[in-house]
This record gives sequence, structure tokens and C-alpha cells, in this order.
Amino acid sequence: MSVEIVVVPCLSDNYAYLVKAGDACAVVDPSEPGPVTAALSARGWRLTHILNTHHHLDHTGGNLALKQAAGAIVVGPGKDAARIPGIDVGVDESSGWDFGGRKVQVLEVPAHTRGSITFVIDGNAFTGDTLFAMGCGRLFEGDPGMMWASLSKLMRLPDATKVWCGHEYTESNGRFALTLEAGNQALQERMKRVRAARGAGQTSMPSDMGLEKATNPFLRVSSPEIRKSLGMEQAGDVAVFGEIRRRKDSF
Ligand code: ZN
Ligand code: FE
Repeated sequence: MSVEIVVVPCLSDNYAYLVKAGDACAVVDPSEPGPVTAALSARGWRLTHILNTHHHLDHTGGNLALKQAAGAIVVGPGKDAARIPGIDVGVDESSGWDFGGRKVQVLEVPAHTRGSITFVIDGNAFTGDTLFAMGCGRLFEGDPGMMWASLSKLMRLPDATKVWCGHEYTESNGRFALTLEAGNQALQERMKRVRAARGAGQTSMPSDMGLEKATNPFLRVSSPEIRKSLGMEQAGDVAVFGEIRRRKDSF
């Protein structure tokens, strides 16, 4: 049986996710306890685990209240344990993790924060603020080379891997992407679908790796159109990536 995933909007544009696997039920990146508790009780589910992709408060703010209320186990990046409230289990790439009888792949993807990780559960990647739909996280604790290496690691996941991100930034990310690659037909079509979904009040999650590789400018540093837009036809991948990130910072 595959896992069941529920999107839980939190704060203004954050997403937490419930992940149900048999008797085990995790929440990924609870910003705040209220919406998570409501989503759990609407389904009669009992929380067993709290997973954090990184230490930022908008991803861990609900840890302590949820842990206390449910006795849930907090799982997060071992290398950043000191900054994860209530952490019980520190994980990394070599440890992986085991959830509801499933092997969970842990990918270390530093740059947004030093300790950022992505959990891959049954073909679902929870990327936090590292990879967004058509975007990527800001470089708070890393440089362009570090983020490019982290994104390249995610790009090695199978194309069918579903991508569940930490924020609903998709539409504005897509508008930025079009400034660099207006001729990308997959991008144009995706933006039509995203605008329709957002206009109807729906989430744009999930994406998948194949779609990200086709439309996300941060993964498309070798696109001739993007390079031409930047005037960087001959530059190295990290330089192109860094320039895209720099422009997005002030978009
Ligand atoms: Zn963050
Ligand atoms: Fe965030």
C-alpha cells in the first residue's frame, strides 16, 4: 500500500504535509500546531512522527506543541540537531530512516541552511525550502556552488518522483521563469495550469522532478535560451545558476 499525503496550509504561504503509512502518521514541517491538529482530527489520525527539513521557525514552530500533545517523535537533520526544537532522532544520508516499515531516503541538500535535508518516502520528495515548484530557496547559509550541487543531487531522483515543497510560491516563481525563458512551451503550459488552479483556490502541489527539469530555471542552467537572456552563453553552470539566483532575489 502506498502512503497517503494530505496538504496542510499553514501561516500565510507555508505547507505542512501529513504522511500516513499504515499505523504511522508523520507531519512534515509543521509551522504551527493548529492546522495540523485540525487536519489530523478531521481524519481520526494519530500523529506518531514530526519530520523537519530544516531549522527555520516556519518549518519547526509546531514541533514542541505537537510533540507534547501526541507524544510524537521528532526527526530532523542530525548535523543541525542543536537548532531543531525537540529533536529525538537525527538523520543523514548514510543513516536514512525507517517509517511505517518503509525505507526513507534522506538527501543532504545544504545551502538554504547548512543542515537542510530532503526526505524521500515512497517516491515522494519533501524538499522544504531547497527546491520549490519552478524555484529554489534563498542562499542563507551557502553559496551558489553549494546550492547547485544540492539541486543536482535532487535531479538524479527519477522523473516520476513527486515534489512537495515548503511554500506556495509557484505562480510568482513561474512569472520569473518566463522572464528568462519565454519560449519554453512546457513552462507556458504549466503556467496556464498553475494560474487556473490558484485562481480556483487550489494548491499547486505536488510537482514532479520531470516537470521541474522541464520548467524550473534553477535546474535549467544549460538552456540556450536562458543563457542568451543572461548574456552568459559561455559561462560555467555555477556562474549561470548564481546569476539566476541573484536576479530572483530582487524580482
Ligand atoms: Zn526556510
Ligand atoms: Fe520556509
